[in-house]
Amino acid sequence: MDDSVLLALRNYFQKVGLENRGPLGSCCCRCCFRLFAVPCRVAGYEIYSLPENCLRPFCVAINVEPCAENCKLCLGLLSDQFLSKLFRVVQVKLQNYKVEDTFRISVAFWEKYRSSLQNSLDETQLEETEVDLKKCFKWTFGNWLETQLHMKFAVDSDLEIRIQVKEMPLVDSNLSLIEDMVFIVLAPIYLQGRYIKLSRRLSQSPWIVDNIRLAPDSIEECVYEYLLHQLGARECRFTAGGREDVDVRMLGSGRPFIIELLEAKCTRSYVSNETFLRDWERQVFLRSNGQVQLQETKVSDAFGYASLKESEMTKRKTYRCIVYISKSVKDETGVAEYLGSLIPLTIEQYTPLRVLHRRSLAKRKRVIHEIRLKLLNSHFAILDLVTDAGTYVKEFVHGDLGRTTPYLGSLLGCETDILQLDVLHVHISDWG
Ligand SMILES: [Zn+2]
Ligand SMILES: [Zn+2]
Repeated sequence: MDDSVLLALRNYFQKVGLENRGPLGSCCCRCCFRLFAVPCRVAGYEIYSLPENCLRPFCVAINVEPCAENCKLCLGLLSDQFLSKLFRVVQVKLQNYKVEDTFRISVAFWEKYRSSLQNSLDETQLEETEVDLKKCFKWTFGNWLETQLHMKFAVDSDLEIRIQVKEMPLVDSNLSLIEDMVFIVLAPIYLQGRYIKLSRRLSQSPWIVDNIRLAPDSIEECVYEYLLHQLGARECRFTAGGREDVDVRMLGSGRPFIIELLEAKCTRSYVSNETFLRDWERQVFLRSNGQVQLQETKVSDAFGYASLKESEMTKRKTYRCIVYISKSVKDETGVAEYLGSLIPLTIEQYTPLRVLHRRSLAKRKRVIHEIRLKLLNSHFAILDLVTDAGTYVKEFVHGDLGRTTPYLGSLLGCETDILQLDVLHVHISDWG
């Protein structure tokens, strides 16, 4: 340390002064500096992070004899002895994580510690200054971490080092007490993409009724299992822009989804590279025997999540159905033109019988924006539809015992039924 900082501090102490210096003898060096409201930096030095034996001479120079132990103002939180133990714990815990070179610190004082502090303050008749305890702790410990871990403090870092001071451990207590005070908290990781589903036996989420699995696997599990294991996440939350029935394939460009990984053991940068994303896609393909394929995978964020949720009710979808028509159709062009002339077609749907056990009874209006029919033979046809979100397509084709009106059969003047359904496209803007 050069003389300039010495001089600057001496001037500072002279200028500030303190009427009653008596109680200062019962506090540590850093708290002594805090009481004089010494700023974080003096003459280019991060004053508070200097070791106590460097700070001590300043205190002595202004006739204060600091007390290294049992400081009345921090109860030992700002002592070298405690901070170095804390540092060791943080260092060991960080070894389990793959992180970048930034961090941020948060510190919380639990009730027990706070009330002990207050009692101690009352005894000494000292008052907190503008350099409060938390601020000073962050300055001091933050700088230690920066210099010894070669990391940078950044308010927006994905790595949070969370310190919870429940009560102040005794100076000679073992490390396990301090381990309970340190939490490594990584920001959630968001990954987005689109899935294509080629199976007619795969549900989107695990299909479990009364604790019995009705399908061995699900899209969700296929998509996130690799992530759970690879990134050591505690939890994966899968959200898709809508869902198709188990027996409906999801083709075309796929259905958008987003995954939120909670408490992963790494930060975002470890997944935002092509190698990781390609590995993920390959693992999903293998696990599902090729039935689930991912496209346009990339790292996302909370905004991507919000826009997916928001678009869920506004997006349109393109469907392809194989339909049965009871009457024999000869004039394909005539029927197609007639159906086309009805567009946009508003239909009314009561909640379908097949979902009534889990949805409430309601009557809803939906619009069919495009409709195209192509005959396979006189009784079977391919029907392509573009509909509002939330349209029950199967019910539009078979009528659901009169609960959807009009339906394809009522429009054609016969009975119609649906044999197969695929989703060809989920229209969503600002995505991918
Ligand atoms: Zn001091
Ligand atoms: Zn102190």
